[in-house]
Amino acid sequence: MSETRDTVILGSGCSGLTAAIYTARAGLKPLVLEGHEPGGQLSITTLVENFPGWPDGIQGPELIDNMKKQAARFGAEFKLGHLHAVDLNVHPIKLETSVGEIRTRTLIIASGASARWLGLPSEQALIGHGVSSCATCDGFFFRDKSIAVVGGGDSAMEEALFLTRFASKVTLLHRRDAFRASKIMLDRAIAHPNIELRTNCVVDEVLGVEEKSVKGLALRDTKTGEKSTLPVEGLFLGIGHEPNAKMFSGQLDLDDDGYIKTRDNVFTTFHGQVVNGVFACGDVQDRRYRQAITAAGTGCMAALEVEKYLEEHGH
Ligand code: NDP
Repeated sequence: MSETRDTVILGSGCSGLTAAIYTARAGLKPLVLEGHEPGGQLSITTLVENFPGWPDGIQGPELIDNMKKQAARFGAEFKLGHLHAVDLNVHPIKLETSVGEIRTRTLIIASGASARWLGLPSEQALIGHGVSSCATCDGFFFRDKSIAVVGGGDSAMEEALFLTRFASKVTLLHRRDAFRASKIMLDRAIAHPNIELRTNCVVDEVLGVEEKSVKGLALRDTKTGEKSTLPVEGLFLGIGHEPNAKMFSGQLDLDDDGYIKTRDNVFTTFHGQVVNGVFACGDVQDRRYRQAITAAGTGCMAALEVEKYLEEHGH
């Protein structure tokens, strides 16, 4: 059997890396399995203006890089890999990963959340050919082009504003006429000369599947039912995220939207009863706040619970 670790952290976003800093500093030599999106959501964002301690803001990838270095300095080990299967009923807990079998006394699930898609076949067919969920990754390819962004929250505003650096025009499409976005972000989008907001508007189809490039969008007004075509060369989705918790279904209690249920302020997981040694933190268990700083905070809390758990179990 492989060596048993004191703790393994699934995910290398803000929560996972904070958990890594704390558990490494406690001498637990955490192994961080970096997951499908190393660095998590911050690694594909631009300027983070609300992380305390950075009065002028800090670029998301730089913040993540700093956290990683900080965790490594105290002995955290990083592996580029992801989870195939997990057995939480055996102790030590058994993980089947892309880098082999791992046994661990405790597990910190910090697998975060991933971008949501509309689910249209034409959208799926054109991902990477003009359809994207990551403005910072793909915006560069849309220089002087006309594009659309879907969504009414802060992500959509942030994407639309960022994309004005490249695109000649950004049309922001939202399915309602009330916005979830914070006032400051919405006001910035409204004030921008190259952003046009269209409300009560949904995308029925992305045009251009045969040409293998986005040629436009078939739109529908949700109030009048009126159909129209918007000629754009790119479509960006800013419609929120899905928690990366599917692999725990059947072994942990998930809520209706798939988020891992945790006990407030303890981050213990459940499956009818408390699941020993398994903790969750960050966006995979947070449907409410989903901020870098709250993800970091819960990562710290989960790490402290791990320390306490190991101590109580004589390790
Ligand atoms: P939100 O859940 O806040 O917003 C998602 C938006 O997408 C909503 O307007 C929703 O519409 C729309 N939407 C969802 N599904 C669909 C669909 N199938 N078709 C069309 N529209 C859809 O997610 P965000 O990612 O924007 O934000 C998440 C959290 O992260 C928030 O707390 C936000 O404040 C924060 N954030 C902060 C940033 C910053 O401060 N710089 C940047 C980005 C995010 P509807 O309103 O009708 O439900």
